[in-house]
Amino acid sequence: MATTGEYRYDRLTWEEMNDAIEAQKLVILPTGSTEQHGRHLPLDTDTFLCYAVCLEVGRRAPDQVLVLPPVPYGLNRHHFDFPGTVHIQPQVFIDFCLNIAKSVAYHGFQRLLIVNGHGSNTPLVDLVARRTVLETQSLCFAANYFSFLQEAFAEVRESAVVAHADELETSLYLHLAPERVRWDRAAAGNDRQGEFVSSDSTSPLVRFNDYWGRWTTTGVHGDPTCATAAKGALLFEAAVEGLVRLVPELRHWPVAERADQHRLPVQHQIEF
Ligand SMILES: [Zn+2]
Repeated sequence: MATTGEYRYDRLTWEEMNDAIEAQKLVILPTGSTEQHGRHLPLDTDTFLCYAVCLEVGRRAPDQVLVLPPVPYGLNRHHFDFPGTVHIQPQVFIDFCLNIAKSVAYHGFQRLLIVNGHGSNTPLVDLVARRTVLETQSLCFAANYFSFLQEAFAEVRESAVVAHADELETSLYLHLAPERVRWDRAAAGNDRQGEFVSSDSTSPLVRFNDYWGRWTTTGVHGDPTCATAAKGALLFEAAVEGLVRLVPELRHWPVAERADQHRLPVQHQIEF
């Protein structure tokens, strides 16, 4: 049976799955959050934007990738002063995603890519990817979709702080589903900035994430009023294009033999 044009992992039958495994498609796991995004964006922002990017990657490269259903929750307790946010303990999130990765590896897929859309999940998906490499015969890579659009964003960026429910995310949402953006509620969020510490997520030196109730009353860090659908279209295209370019590199990344340099036998039975 020829490989179908279906790129959604869960739309295949088990029989078609055998073809996808034989074709060694890259399996993509989108991760997001269910988290407050100011007064103007829905709680699904991270999941919706990330999944939309991944689905478009699938649409453009259906013979190379399979996109898993997204994980719509993440590390979020810092947003608990705003109603509705769902928090998953870091270890539970890691275990859950690792179980997905191991399942996919078990069936014979050798390469996975976690595409994350929620900043606070970043260190967690990195660990999931690394543990998958160490605990299976497969490779697992991790990336944030928004890393691929930073260059394009720099060209159109107008606001000083970019962190959350900001110019970037609001532009993407305006491009993908403007009817769900409460535009009349969009307002610039307050921020606290020192010389080294800031809520700007592009701040490179010191990592810090306080309870958001301590430094914002809007739930916004940044200025969503600079957002436009046209910017969103540009950012979406940049993210999709970057990931589509990444796919063949990952699909052909070698699963090489390990070269053991010990002179004497090692204790293989030790489990970590
Ligand atoms: Zn977000």
